[in-house]
Amino acid sequence: MSELINEQYETNYQDLLKLQAELAERLHAIEKDLFRRTEALSPKYAEQATEMENAEVLQELYDEGREELALVKAALERYQANKYGICQHCGAKISAERLQAVPYTDRCRICANDQ
Ligand SMILES: [Zn+2]
Repeated sequence: MSELINEQYETNYQDLLKLQAELAERLHAIEKDLFRRTEALSPKYAEQATEMENAEVLQELYDEGREELALVKAALERYQANKYGICQHCGAKISAERLQAVPYTDRCRICANDQ
């Protein structure tokens, strides 16, 4: 049984692994950038203000990336536990189309719309 489930979701699993690697790489790049910016803020106030804004945008991207990565990791854990593709809210099977679009989702379409 579980082997069948894993086979069915193999593509989603590969997508999740790819996504996890991409996100980790992106976060690493943002981390480096954020660190460099706080290290060397320019002396002029105007430039500094722009840099602060950029840092804020980077911070937002960073936070978003971390949230997405957490979702991906949780989905990979569900996969390992043979719970992947099952709505964590109502227990229904999540449609293949939905999983293809959002491989880390843990809600079926109905529950996602209900939130
Ligand atoms: Zn549901």
